[in-house]
Amino acid sequence: MSALSIPPPSCLLKPFVVPQRHMFGPGPSNVPPRILEAGAKPVIGHMHPEIFEIMNEIKSGIQYIFQTRNRMTFAVSGTGHAAMECAIFNTVEPGESVLAAVNGIWGERAADMAERIGAMVNTLVVPPGGYLTISEIEKALSRHRPVVFFLAHGESSTGVLHPLDGIGELCHKYNCLLLVDSVASLGGTPLYMDQQGIDILYTGSQKVLNAPPGTAPISFSERACQKVFNRRTRPVSFSLDLNWLANYWGCDEKPSRMYHHTGPVTAFYTLRESLAVLSEEGLENSWKRHQNAAEHFYAGLEKLGLKLFVKEKHARLPTVTTIVAPHGYDWKEVTSYIMKTHNLEISGGLGPSVGLVLRVGLMGCNSSKEKVDMVLAALKDALEHCHRSKV
Ligand code: PMP
Repeated sequence: MSALSIPPPSCLLKPFVVPQRHMFGPGPSNVPPRILEAGAKPVIGHMHPEIFEIMNEIKSGIQYIFQTRNRMTFAVSGTGHAAMECAIFNTVEPGESVLAAVNGIWGERAADMAERIGAMVNTLVVPPGGYLTISEIEKALSRHRPVVFFLAHGESSTGVLHPLDGIGELCHKYNCLLLVDSVASLGGTPLYMDQQGIDILYTGSQKVLNAPPGTAPISFSERACQKVFNRRTRPVSFSLDLNWLANYWGCDEKPSRMYHHTGPVTAFYTLRESLAVLSEEGLENSWKRHQNAAEHFYAGLEKLGLKLFVKEKHARLPTVTTIVAPHGYDWKEVTSYIMKTHNLEISGGLGPSVGLVLRVGLMGCNSSKEKVDMVLAALKDALEHCHRSKV
């Protein structure tokens, strides 16, 4: 029983190579050298005082980018989906009513997660490219009396920026928590957690923040905490239990922090540095830069004869643009041609927008006139060289 029967895999004995690419899909975006270098710093323990200091800096950075004073503000170890589950699993108990706005894939996923824990889920479905009005939301809140209303601020599958004003107040009138997904929008367009009455807000590290995927900033209002900490049942997930996470991140009043999980320290370094980059630029400057780049992009697309999928200007998400799939072309050929010829990622639709759109993400350091021109040149080239059916 001493001989190995499985040899070392030959693929692992070759040098490790990863290509450099222009990451202009809906995420992840390119990670600038400063943030990559932060990830190369020595690994220290997940309970060392220095990592707690770094985690405190991350909490302050998230409070800034979310514009919140919530003390329950931290980063989930995981991607955006982990933050979605953290929000839903902690705030909702089995049998409770949940309402999800579905104007793309993210509302569908939120509904799926809530169903898995035995919630009574209702959805408000809008065709891809659209959004809900205040009166539609009010009607559904009064009918279903949910404990949580889910809304994607930036619907990255359809390119819609959902208006938020007035929805927080409305939810509170019906004693409902407002849960907002800002994975694709945060940092690229105005969002004010406290002023807009958002109870639970989360985002991802790999979009406007330009950090690698793997951490997901999240924050809970006092109102949300009241609900979470007065539950009758324990959340189904140990890893995402807010009681534990609050302690690990030093968000509770307890004098000492306990081991819950091994925090991904390298991912914390990169998140810390990405928050520093955004803080140095200033949120308002970043919002303006994303808006300007998006408008430059829209003008260039129109010149190419391409159409924007979201008709109303104010409902266009500046970080992820959806383009009506060009008539007569196979969208897969267009995206593969651009990848092969220009080493540049753009993507097709997702969920309800598959086949309908091309999606281009210009986030964080990728949101500039120069990068927009690069995408426009690649699209122009693809339209000239990809097969076009005679229709
Ligand atoms: N919500 C939105 C709006 C997103 O764009 C994404 C990622 N595309 C997610 C949630 C899920 O994030 P992740 O892939 O990091 O789990």
